[in-house]
Amino acid sequence: MSSIIENTTWDFVIIGAGPSGSAAAINLASKGKSVLLIDKSSFPRDKVCGCCLNEKSLRLLDSLGVLNKVMEQVSSKLENLSLTIANKNFNIPLSGNGLAVSRILLDELLITQAIKNGTTFLPSTKVKINTQLANTEFRSIKIEGGNNLEIKSRFIILATGLSNPKIFIDPEEQKQFKTYISKNSHIGVGAKVDCDSINIKNNEIKMYVNKEGYVGITRLEDGNIDLAGAISAHKDESLKGQVLIKDTISKILPNNIFKNKNDFQNIVWQGTPLLTRESKLNISKVFLIGDANRYVEPFTGQGISWALESGVMISEYLENTLTSSSINQKNWKRVLKKTQGNEMLKCNIIKHSLRYPKTTSKILSYVLKIPNSTHYLTTLFGHGMATNKDMKIP
Ligand SMILES: Cc1cc2nc3c(=O)[nH]c(=O)nc-3n(C[C@H](O)[C@H](O)[C@H](O)COP(=O)(O)OP(=O)(O)OC[C@H]3O[C@@H](n4cnc5c(N)ncnc54)[C@H](O)[C@@H]3O)c2cc1C
Repeated sequence: MSSIIENTTWDFVIIGAGPSGSAAAINLASKGKSVLLIDKSSFPRDKVCGCCLNEKSLRLLDSLGVLNKVMEQVSSKLENLSLTIANKNFNIPLSGNGLAVSRILLDELLITQAIKNGTTFLPSTKVKINTQLANTEFRSIKIEGGNNLEIKSRFIILATGLSNPKIFIDPEEQKQFKTYISKNSHIGVGAKVDCDSINIKNNEIKMYVNKEGYVGITRLEDGNIDLAGAISAHKDESLKGQVLIKDTISKILPNNIFKNKNDFQNIVWQGTPLLTRESKLNISKVFLIGDANRYVEPFTGQGISWALESGVMISEYLENTLTSSSINQKNWKRVLKKTQGNEMLKCNIIKHSLRYPKTTSKILSYVLKIPNSTHYLTTLFGHGMATNKDMKIP
């Protein structure tokens, strides 16, 4: 296996096997390109995520050949959002199609499809990009530790999520990979709890918002409950890690949400880096997709659709132009911004309004009195987009 990996000049090496990296691998491999997908984690692996797939995600999964396998596992679509902002509750029917699916399952199904289409997958593998050995035809990648393999690839796609890895061996090149983080950015937090600990139906999302941040709750296909949210990371310097997260979440969630108080105390939370960010990379033949390129905040539940879409789009952008010199990261970002810029802007506006929960709650009270407003609200969250009539949702 290692000799095949080393002796092949790959068309694409994709680093990161989340939804963006796997979507790119599925499409590129299906078009006959040689694709090596690498991830530092071992799989199946979980990830901090609200696990809600909006209709755009479902359409993209359909085009990638994965939707049927997802739906075999899910018993109900998401039909209701119970949103509590500044202690006021709103019940918003979700007019489109949406599902809650664990990231363990989703990411595994995407990787399996990529492998089926011809992708070679290397989990538990850390790499560095070694441009000293690169030439005009290919970039060079070095597997860290172990057997020190050198891999050659015509293009490299970085789908590494929010981690912004120190991945270039040359420090000057690493400087070309810059991440800009928004000043009032929150961190993401998440945990799984047992099926009985919270009362929640499998067709609903519960969301609690106040000035500390917000938390969403859904039931996953295995019955367990997913908690995911975004909280301020800076409010109290004396609190850190689990203590900071528990203290903040206990102020966001109602006291009686857990049937047994110990259930909350026993949760081990996972955190993410600061969320609202955009990265820029000025290195030829290396491209950013998914969260590695840009991310806002999870409230509108669009991250997976942006990730899948960027994976699909990069494959279309690059597949016919393997030898063209006009393609570059700047150009690619422009293409992606044209498609996703408006959604990200809306998400950013919502993010800012959530910093003022009392005002947002008042505005929402008025908005929800307007006929059809719930339909437009769910469209905003990407749940109510035009339905593909052939798509069979449970
Ligand atoms: C709290 C929270 C809730 C969310 N809720 C939702 C939701 O309900 N719905 C929704 O659509 N989106 C949601 N999102 C957003 C969604 O999780 C992300 O947008 C999506 O996972 C991005 O996919 P990706 O492929 O770009 O990155 P990721 O899914 O983060 O995958 C990146 C992969 O790269 C690997 N990697 C990182 N560095 C390296 C390295 N150096 N070498 C090799 N591998 C590496 C990691 O192991 C990982 O597997 C949420 C996000 C957060 C933080």
